[in-house]
Amino acid sequence: MADYDLVIIGGGPAGLTAGLYAARANMHTVLFEAKDIGGELLNTDLIEDWPGEESITGRELAEKMGAHATKFGLTIQPYSPVKKIRSEGDWKVVEMEDGTTHRAYAVIVTVGGEPTKLEVPGEAEFHGRGVSYCAVCDGAFFKGEDLAVVGGGDSAFQEGLFLTRFAKNLSLIHRRNDFRAQQILQDRLLGMDQVTAVTPATVKEIGGDTQVRWIDVERDGAVERIAVGGVFVFVGFKPVGRHLFDEHIDHDENGYLLTDQYMRTNIPGVYACGDTRAQLAKQITTAVGDATTAVLHAERYIEELKHVRRSFPEAPSETLEREVERMKLQRFLAGQTIIREGDPAYSFFILTRGAASVRQNGPHGEREISTLKPGDFFGEIGLLSGTVRNATVRATAPTEVLELDAVGFRELVESSQATKDRVQSSIEQRLAKAGPKT
Ligand code: NAP
Repeated sequence: MADYDLVIIGGGPAGLTAGLYAARANMHTVLFEAKDIGGELLNTDLIEDWPGEESITGRELAEKMGAHATKFGLTIQPYSPVKKIRSEGDWKVVEMEDGTTHRAYAVIVTVGGEPTKLEVPGEAEFHGRGVSYCAVCDGAFFKGEDLAVVGGGDSAFQEGLFLTRFAKNLSLIHRRNDFRAQQILQDRLLGMDQVTAVTPATVKEIGGDTQVRWIDVERDGAVERIAVGGVFVFVGFKPVGRHLFDEHIDHDENGYLLTDQYMRTNIPGVYACGDTRAQLAKQITTAVGDATTAVLHAERYIEELKHVRRSFPEAPSETLEREVERMKLQRFLAGQTIIREGDPAYSFFILTRGAASVRQNGPHGEREISTLKPGDFFGEIGLLSGTVRNATVRATAPTEVLELDAVGFRELVESSQATKDRVQSSIEQRLAKAGPKT
């Protein structure tokens, strides 16, 4: 079993972007892709809405993104399908189809989805013999034939445009008169002589002999048979991310994974990005944006988890994982006060970077009673005793602390007898050091 900081599942634009950022941040990361890297890019001929590239083929962009991430040290494992992801304490265990397993502090799921099927007679039977869901992959087999494209979204129009290179005639079959594809794509495709829009029309059946020969559509109550050698279906997309989990993961009614603004799912340490996530637009630009947010948050989450593990090695890992999600990172400059003596106590802190001085007021003014270094915690006395802060803590260098609210702190303390004992003994030591305020 190999251990990683981060496992990225899926090698489309979202996964490759997450990988690029993770590699640049020096995180111990691996990206698993079930097929070749590129994801939906490989099913796309020309891309014209990727800023900086007026026009680039999907394959070329996939290669560029892969090379870019690899250059910065990302380990990419293509043809490595993941079977399941499960939680084991604060680890995510990634089970591969080949039987191997990997552990990581966090997982970014960018597995996209699969094409929606029409679910009409003949569709499954002729899949691979004239029925296709990818023009870029299969279009060239149909040179000089009459073809049908089913659907009215961006995919149908974009793939339809690609198919006009090969099709003698192209019927664009859509269930409504209005199309949801971008206007620029509509103008281009519908302006072509060899293209006929067949609307509003519902596909009833696909038929043929060894190959597709016809498609039956119903229009205005009558069934029409259109002779075609191939049917390309683009009627939407079904996300597949949630099938990687046996434990519950929040998703919407269509199966898209639900996340917060940091791309966190409801499972701590699991992030979802790109087409498998519930969002407004399935675009390369949004996928890479999702991935950037996810990896930056994951980086912080992993670092915090490691800090909290070091500070509370005896606490159950599930508790640590849950409390890390509650913690807020706070930064202080040298000289800034983190907590002030006499103030009400609302939270608990773990110092993760920098240094601080613990100071108490006495009759002769403020004096230092101890210092804090990374890994030390403070703020527990006021919280547990229900009184005000008994000391001031001031940063003596640029300092980062993780702040945990009172509820989280109580959960942490109660999580094991050893944790309770450690916090209690720290309180006793501190009170002894503070001495009476003479
Ligand atoms: P989509 O936008 O969901 O469009 C699906 C199309 O299929 C719709 O026109 C829909 O009809 C039709 N449809 C759905 N179920 C059907 C059924 N059972 N029978 C017949 N027709 C059915 O899906 P998409 O075109 O695959 O695009 C998916 C996402 O990727 C979209 O967000 C899209 O913008 C994005 N995308 C972007 C680009 C780009 O160039 N930027 C390229 C490809 C895809 P109704 O309209 O009547 O619902």
